[in-house]
Amino acid sequence: MVFKQAKWDEPLIYELGCEGRIGFLVPEVEEDIRREVGEIQIPDKIRRENPPELPELSEVEVVRHFIRLSQMTYGVDNGPIPLGSCTMKYNPKISESIASDPRITLLHPLQDEDTVQGLLEIMYLLQKWLANIVGMDVCTLHPAAGAHSELAGVLIIRKYHELKGQLNRKKEIIVPDSAHGTNPASAAMAGFRVVTVRSAPDGNIDIEAVKAVVSDRTAGLMLTNPNTLGLFEENIVELAEIIHEVDGLLYYDGANLNGIMGYTRPGDMGFDIAHINIHKTFGSPHGGGGPGAGPLCVKERIVDPERNIKLSDLLPGPIVKYDNVRKKYYLKKPGKYSIGWLKSFFANTIPLIKAFIYIACLGPQGLKEVTEQAVINTNYFIKKLKDTKGYSLPYDPERYRKHEVVFSAKPMTQDVGVTAEDVCKGLLDAGFYAPTMYFPLIVQEALMIEFTDTETKENIDKYAERMKEIAKIAYENPEEAKKWPRNTVVTRVDLVKANHPKTVTPSWRVLKLRKEGKIK
Ligand SMILES: *Cc1c(COP(=O)(O)O)cnc(C)c1O
Repeated sequence: MVFKQAKWDEPLIYELGCEGRIGFLVPEVEEDIRREVGEIQIPDKIRRENPPELPELSEVEVVRHFIRLSQMTYGVDNGPIPLGSCTMKYNPKISESIASDPRITLLHPLQDEDTVQGLLEIMYLLQKWLANIVGMDVCTLHPAAGAHSELAGVLIIRKYHELKGQLNRKKEIIVPDSAHGTNPASAAMAGFRVVTVRSAPDGNIDIEAVKAVVSDRTAGLMLTNPNTLGLFEENIVELAEIIHEVDGLLYYDGANLNGIMGYTRPGDMGFDIAHINIHKTFGSPHGGGGPGAGPLCVKERIVDPERNIKLSDLLPGPIVKYDNVRKKYYLKKPGKYSIGWLKSFFANTIPLIKAFIYIACLGPQGLKEVTEQAVINTNYFIKKLKDTKGYSLPYDPERYRKHEVVFSAKPMTQDVGVTAEDVCKGLLDAGFYAPTMYFPLIVQEALMIEFTDTETKENIDKYAERMKEIAKIAYENPEEAKKWPRNTVVTRVDLVKANHPKTVTPSWRVLKLRKEGKIK
């Protein structure tokens, strides 16, 4: 077995360096600038007594610190990260280099619109392209992530019913049991009652179960397609009719858009509102909660003909528009029917620029090929692993999956007590990254695997081989499986402890207070 991570005993950056050591000198303000700008008065209420506690290091110490940390970690530039649902695509370097151009990174959100016409043009085109890709009419780039956009989407559903004077009865949102946890959470945050509907044995939402719960209390339905099992919801058109019949709206969770992009569009399936996880589908880096962007698109439905309110009037945040007379791009602020602002300023522009470059480089045909390759990769992997003792493929193993697949380690767990978690540790031990595990909740001992389009056949082969080897070891020597991983910087951790607020130290300040015994 090969050890693939550097094992540095790396201290925190605050524990490095010493008082007075510096790595960078801030240049003196030149006299003529000082004269022009004058002395800047910092208001008393935000002035600190003591200087902030910053680490004091030389440049070389900083460089070494971060290089060493990078050698201890694992990212998509090291090897595959087949995290199902999260979609960890390779991040094309051209997007990285253009997005880090100082003409972009040095822009300030309070700059005059006249000075950021280029950026606004990018955003304007992106709004159009994204709306086109999902088959919707109007798009805002404002929300910062998928979950953020979901909340915006259900708030739009709420506003829709409110403006139609029917919010007093429209109190329920239908969500399948295969849904991502953020779906019911968003619906509940927006004040709806969540009605969960089970999946049928073929892995699709059970249409009879939907019919049984639909009523004039139904405000809408949230769905991802392909669903979290990687299966295409084949009854979507009928489903849309059922929901529309009671004047409910259909919300598309775009996390799995990369399983259908270029082939079909949520708008054509009957969805009214759709979010896009920029950081998943369009290959910008993410992890640990960011950075991302979650554009939200809607169909141009009439909400109230008398007041001329359309669904797009409800969208949050500013939208980039083009003024044909002045020949200028500008930000149209949310109007009186909008659900308002979700965050300060326009949007998370850097991941959006990366998405723009991704789409521009690939073009319509390229986007289609990305989808195609992702689907081929999944089904190739399934073919390799499917009949391995220890794993099963719940929900109609004969159906083709789209961009991801959910295997189960339940047979292994039942036979010899080796769990999905142990399988993941066995993958880490061999220098791979583990898949998403224990999600979706409807599959026990779930291993949710998504290679994405860029993974090579050789790596998919190796991954499948390792999973087979793990199963073999599990049956021959289950104790061994409980000791994985040995070949990583951090070996097996106590999962409960690792998640406990008393163990996780969110900041240096807290760590110091803890060390000084001032807090527990
Ligand atoms: C990732 C994901 C979300 C949430 O998106 P974020 O951008 O992480 O907030 C919602 N639904 C599904 C199916 C997802 O995979």
